[in-house]
Amino acid sequence: MPIRISCLCGKTSVDLHGQPAARANCHCASCRDFYGTTMLSATAWHEEAVRIANGACSIFQHPAKQLSKAFCSTCGEVLFGSNRLGMRVVPNAMTARATGGSLDAKLAPTMHLFYRHRIIDVTDALPKYLDGRDGPQYEAS
Ligand SMILES: [Zn+2]
Ligand SMILES: [Zn+2]
Repeated sequence: MPIRISCLCGKTSVDLHGQPAARANCHCASCRDFYGTTMLSATAWHEEAVRIANGACSIFQHPAKQLSKAFCSTCGEVLFGSNRLGMRVVPNAMTARATGGSLDAKLAPTMHLFYRHRIIDVTDALPKYLDGRDGPQYEAS
């Protein structure tokens, strides 16, 4: 069964099929600015796993970066974005709303990315990569 996320006005909904490819809290400046949040807590999905079920999304393409976001043409809420790898990025606020207000454990973040660029500190047990997940991790001193 796909997870169906819906915008606030209810006109646009998107189905998420299968499992996400990655689950993370991203602290990079691009995500922060593009999504207007202190960190982006989200899942990343292969493009074909994210399908519009009802309504219509408009696309905003970042003027300088390989980022875009799809928002409901009526209420303007962002349902998902696309990152520079071509993955679809779904904010955890959307999936939590779709599953009764709490985030399914199968969608919970497994790491922090670009923690070097954070504007808030997070004290949890997840690995905190200073940059991407192929690089060094943050060590609390
Ligand atoms: Zn990011
Ligand atoms: Zn809407």
